[in-house]
Amino acid sequence: MFESLSERLGSVFDRLTKAGALSEADVDAALREVRTALLEADVSLAVARDFIKAVKAKATGQAVTKSVTPGQQVVKIVHDELVHVLAGEGEPDALKIDNPPSAILMVGLQGSGKTTTTAKLAKRLKDKNGKKVLLASLDTNRPAAMEQLAILAGQVGVDSLPIVKGETAVQIAKRAKTQATLGGYDVVFLDTAGRLHIDEVLMDEVQAVRDIAQPRETLLVVDGLTGQDAVNVATEFDGKVGISGVVLTRMDGDGRGGAALSMRAVTGKPIRFVGLGEKMDALETFEAERVAGRILG
Ligand code: GDP
Repeated sequence: MFESLSERLGSVFDRLTKAGALSEADVDAALREVRTALLEADVSLAVARDFIKAVKAKATGQAVTKSVTPGQQVVKIVHDELVHVLAGEGEPDALKIDNPPSAILMVGLQGSGKTTTTAKLAKRLKDKNGKKVLLASLDTNRPAAMEQLAILAGQVGVDSLPIVKGETAVQIAKRAKTQATLGGYDVVFLDTAGRLHIDEVLMDEVQAVRDIAQPRETLLVVDGLTGQDAVNVATEFDGKVGISGVVLTRMDGDGRGGAALSMRAVTGKPIRFVGLGEKMDALETFEAERVAGRILG
């Protein structure tokens, strides 16, 4: 997930920890390399700059250069700062399901992995949390997408709302909520239609559905391979419909990881889950500590 960033940082820190005594200039030089590595990983410029500033302030404050193992001190400060930038203030738990039926609105661009992620989350809630889950596709433009969700629902062993031709997204959302209540479901996922690009029609539709569904969570699914674009998409969706969290997909690919590092700092929204493949169990809860550990190898 973060192979090249991890490698780059690894070699910087190897040198630092082997160096024994460090001058302030040594620390500065190392941090410049860290900054370059972050930028190469497609971390946004502002985030990389703030990151280095925060590490430097702490390194200076703790008189790192005078400590017994100055290199390790710097690595520890970088680790803690990584956790901070990944998690922000207070990392939320996994999905909150209360007051059943809880609606979870899934939003995102077409091809981001929204439908796949919806089914993965349904499987997780059913298998790990014992929840009764209903899936509904609102993608009225693409009958194939509706069928795909029904197929995936069958694969993971949860119910899907029967498809009724000619309904609008809002009508489907209403029917899904009614069905969720009558059927005694804990959770109903509303898989909204994606578009190739953000456009007004899409946003209006998502807003209308949101107002009807009153979702407990609105999760944005974005392709982690798209780096800073993923962060821009999140900013736009959050501004227009309001999101409660993000799922980064394709983190199994050779992406540079920048989206993960910039997301919280730029959008203020937490990454909740990462997609790590096409299989239905290829989904991980996003844990800042673990990710920071992975980055630092
Ligand atoms: P949607 O248009 O946003 O609903 O996207 P889909 O859920 O149909 O996913 C598009 C493609 O991406 C499918 O082939 C999925 O199997 C694949 N996909 C989704 N999530 C992941 C992931 O985390 N990793 C990988 N490698 N592929 C994924």
